[in-house]
Amino acid sequence: MAVETTPLLDPYRFCPRCGSERFVGNNAQSKRCLSCGLEYYVNPRAAVVALITDEAGNILVCRRAKEPAQGTLDLPGGFTDLNETAEEAVAREVLEETSLTVTRCRYLFSLQNRYLYSGVVIPTMDLFFACEVADFSPLSAHDDVAAVRFLPRAEIKPELFGLASVRKGIARILEENF
Ligand SMILES: [Zn+2]
Repeated sequence: MAVETTPLLDPYRFCPRCGSERFVGNNAQSKRCLSCGLEYYVNPRAAVVALITDEAGNILVCRRAKEPAQGTLDLPGGFTDLNETAEEAVAREVLEETSLTVTRCRYLFSLQNRYLYSGVVIPTMDLFFACEVADFSPLSAHDDVAAVRFLPRAEIKPELFGLASVRKGIARILEENF
């Protein structure tokens, strides 16, 4: 008997293992294949966000080059790859997007998000890290970042950040003075 599942599973109509159409609700977060028995869960994907501050406490802010939320403000970050830790992922994303090398990072907090990618809503678990950088001289914008600069905390408005979790995260960073 089919049960009600999260709409996040709606785009997945066929069993990803055997291709059967007999792919039905199993519980709120999973579907089950009646042909081969596969149980397929939808879980948040891990993503990382970097808080980088200079000696004066200004925060490194990016402008998004691509959709979703193209042109809005953002913090460096992205999805974790296979076979890397969250700490490795945040250092890799910071290097790819800003050319800066992270020397140390410290976990701050996590926030859930929904991210529209290639027409599918992907649930994410965004892990925020405070990252230390020894040398800011290589700073430049690359990858999915159009521009990057340090902004004084007093000039940062959370509503200018396009991604919901980063908007909430930057508000919390300012509020709690991380
Ligand atoms: Zn199957």
